[in-house]
Amino acid sequence: MSAAVSYERVREQLERLGMESALISLDSVLERGQKEERLPVEILDDLLGRELTARFERRVQTNLKLSGLPAPKTLESFDFEAQPQVPKDVIEELATLRFLHQGENVLFLGPCGVGKSHLAIALTLKAIERGHRAYFLSLHDLVTKSRVAREKNRLEMLLRVTTRADLFILDEVGYLPLENADATFLFEVVSKRYEASKSTVVTSNKSYGQWDEIFPDPVLATALLDRLLHHATTINIRGESYRLRHRRQAGTDLTSAS
Ligand code: ADP
Ligand code: MG
Repeated sequence: MSAAVSYERVREQLERLGMESALISLDSVLERGQKEERLPVEILDDLLGRELTARFERRVQTNLKLSGLPAPKTLESFDFEAQPQVPKDVIEELATLRFLHQGENVLFLGPCGVGKSHLAIALTLKAIERGHRAYFLSLHDLVTKSRVAREKNRLEMLLRVTTRADLFILDEVGYLPLENADATFLFEVVSKRYEASKSTVVTSNKSYGQWDEIFPDPVLATALLDRLLHHATTINIRGESYRLRHRRQAGTDLTSAS
């Protein structure tokens, strides 16, 4: 078979295999191989590597869209000096995602505005960037979704969605007291993830002792906390709202400048 026929066949086969990126880079990979006198196996490696990289990047973009993440926040944009309550070394360890591979949970506790959601979002982004599927929801949204799903007889489906994600983030636990059915569903979500050794990140303005106030049944609250805390890192952030402090500091600076 002539080289030209083989070349055409390769193009056609890449297309039939859906290897779009390999097809696009075929010419440059072949050229480079020739110029650098590469071995056939090196040329193949280059071509397949490009296809895989492109697929990975597409997957990350899709996962990002499906994750429900609000405004992106990063660890790089987190001001650790402004919040000495947040242990930088612990956050850096979490950013390695070892916790996710070991199915451990992370809980950010503290009052409003201290950066709990910021840190939860930043960790979620790290997980997505490394190819994991994440699902980010406020407890309020989970409750709303579960009520709609219950009416449509689709609770099982919602439970599957929340269990499937490699990382599930439940934001803002504590602002809203739960009704019985909502609390039971939340318990099922946490239990299923616990049984599957999958990580959950929770942010809450309530300390564990106050979780009774959110749950209609203290036994359920205890059982849920048991599962969440069995393998978990808790980060307690006290201190003051970041925005309020900034606003105040800006105010002070203005006064002193005048
Ligand atoms: P929480 O979830 O604890 O109520 P957020 O994470 O939503 O608070 O933080 C409120 C706002 O302040 C967000 O815009 C967040 O990005 C910002 N913020 C909070 N703490 C910090 C910090 N230490 N460095 C940079 N931005 C911060
Ligand atoms: Mg928050």
